[in-house]
Amino acid sequence: MNKLDAQRQKEIQQAEELLFAGPQALGFAKGLFQGHFVSDWVMPYPRIPEAQQGELDQTLTELRKFLNVDLNPAEIDRQADIPRSVIDGLGRVGVLGMTAPKEYGGHGFSQMANCKVLEEIGRRCASTSVFVNAHHSIGIRALLLFGTHEQNRKWLPKLVSGEQLGAFALTEREAGSDAANVQMQARPSEDGSHFILNGEKRYITNAAIAHELTVMARTPVPGSDKTAVTAFLVTPDMPGFEMLEARMPKTGIKGTATGRFALRDVKVPKENILGPMGKGLKVALTVLDFGRTTFGACCTGAAKTCLELAVAHANTRRQFNKTLGEFELVKKKIARIAADAYAMEAMTTVTASFIDRGLEDYMLETAMLKVFTTERLWECINDVFQIYGGSAYFTDLPLERMLRDARINQIGEGANEVLTSFIALVGMRGPGMEFKEIYDTMMKPSRDGVSKAWAAGKNRLSATVRVPEVPVQSEQLRAHARQLGRLIRHFNFAVNRALITYREPILDMQLVQERIANAAMDLFASTCVLSRIDSETQFARRNGGLPPPDHLAADLFLRQSFRRIRGFLAGLTNNDDKAVIAAAKSCLTSGTAKTTS
Ligand SMILES: Cc1cc2nc3c(=O)[nH]c(=O)nc-3n(C[C@H](O)[C@H](O)[C@H](O)COP(=O)(O)OP(=O)(O)OC[C@H]3O[C@@H](n4cnc5c(N)ncnc54)[C@H](O)[C@@H]3O)c2cc1C
Repeated sequence: MNKLDAQRQKEIQQAEELLFAGPQALGFAKGLFQGHFVSDWVMPYPRIPEAQQGELDQTLTELRKFLNVDLNPAEIDRQADIPRSVIDGLGRVGVLGMTAPKEYGGHGFSQMANCKVLEEIGRRCASTSVFVNAHHSIGIRALLLFGTHEQNRKWLPKLVSGEQLGAFALTEREAGSDAANVQMQARPSEDGSHFILNGEKRYITNAAIAHELTVMARTPVPGSDKTAVTAFLVTPDMPGFEMLEARMPKTGIKGTATGRFALRDVKVPKENILGPMGKGLKVALTVLDFGRTTFGACCTGAAKTCLELAVAHANTRRQFNKTLGEFELVKKKIARIAADAYAMEAMTTVTASFIDRGLEDYMLETAMLKVFTTERLWECINDVFQIYGGSAYFTDLPLERMLRDARINQIGEGANEVLTSFIALVGMRGPGMEFKEIYDTMMKPSRDGVSKAWAAGKNRLSATVRVPEVPVQSEQLRAHARQLGRLIRHFNFAVNRALITYREPILDMQLVQERIANAAMDLFASTCVLSRIDSETQFARRNGGLPPPDHLAADLFLRQSFRRIRGFLAGLTNNDDKAVIAAAKSCLTSGTAKTTS
């Protein structure tokens, strides 16, 4: 086996261990890749239970009151700091322990309710929402999910009140997108009472203000010469903890403290291990699933702000004796922001409901949510920036800050390119395995193999001829539902064709993967939008009211999303991929581009 094959084997083994341990119910996104519409997970549109809705409304009222008076996003940006008074206030409202169980002082909110809280903060200040995410969505998440009762009793009460703060430390110089390549070492002590940690972490939000950090480090696998990642709970008062840079100067979300630290022979008691030994990557990825859901919520909030700002300016600024809103090219931007904001909220709500309903398999959907909402928000901000013209460029308006703040979203918690490839590859795994079954049997027939291959063949064939039913209640949505069903079949056909055409090399064909992932993301987004419109229409009908006015934007979203899906799938056979690769290769091999002197 050559070095490249060995590396590929190692990656596949790691991914298998992380993603496919144990049987799981078919999730919605994986269903799409198999040509199914797993309607139970997405229809009817999820609602927060009435009892919790009352509590949520009360919390949101209190939160808005606090944020309106005490939160000054421009000042946070200027000072590059979130004042302690704001952190204390967020703690008082309960934001810093929203989903923690009540027995530890938390609010016991569902992920759906928590997303509404984060949306409210994301509307106003990205520094503050990223700070809350770093503390609550990921910083203390490993404790909440994997902590023992003793660990939770010891650590959680102060963390959920905000008296203490949390951080999540995975990234290192060698472990950025390649998160599995953690180099920080954790050596067990001779008496087995503790681990000795050595290494450096960088780009860690809250590192310098946290009292508890979930740190990923490499531990030996007993009985072998291998190592595996384990999650540790580290506190900055442990001897050997050295803050190398407390606040790395940066482009946006300046209020957050992004730091770099080293651990030099830091003794961490074995009681501070979070989750099973050697399963730290699984811990990390599960934690990030929660983070990606609240990412979606924060982007939704920011997109709604974009819409408000765009409408306000388009209705008041006059040029050529008209308001800007009278020009079609401005209208187009406003309609697109409204459509995207509606979809982002729907997608966030549905994805959060998967977590609340205990679906085990939602990794694909959280990745889709993260990529989709962060890309859409970037477009929204770009559009509203353009509508404001020159005035957007000056610092008395919030737009330049919003632009700077939003740029991290496409990079943090998994760069969008990495997640896009992940969505395509994990999604295609199901149909890919069925094709492998068929192929292996053709090469080496056996009685058992033939019956398995027959079943796999039947599955693949029926998925390509059957249009899945998309069950909507509202008559006027039937045409959209049928169109969505047809697109799912078309998608499945395209996935099958790509698998048959490219076989194993598809693992490295990211341009093909991107189109498949983009189509899957739009199919998921359209489903969430359709489900939401259906539910709101039915609700209005039952209560004798009119459907909400943003249904026009929602309808536009479906039309544009369906058009995009057709475009992505058409691009699989009609594209310039060879020219793209050739042009890039020529640049990469000729060294750095020379500038004219
Ligand atoms: C402000 C800020 C806050 C952060 N907070 C935290 C935190 O709290 N905790 C934490 O652990 N980390 C944190 N991070 C780290 C963040 O998660 C990483 O920056 C991110 O995962 C990308 O890693 P990298 O920066 O090393 O980029 P690299 O891995 O060097 O990637 C650079 C670029 O290369 C491309 N790329 C990489 N791999 C692939 C691939 N397989 N296919 C295609 N393209 C690829 C992508 O475009 C990517 O953006 C933070 C980062 C920032 C900037």
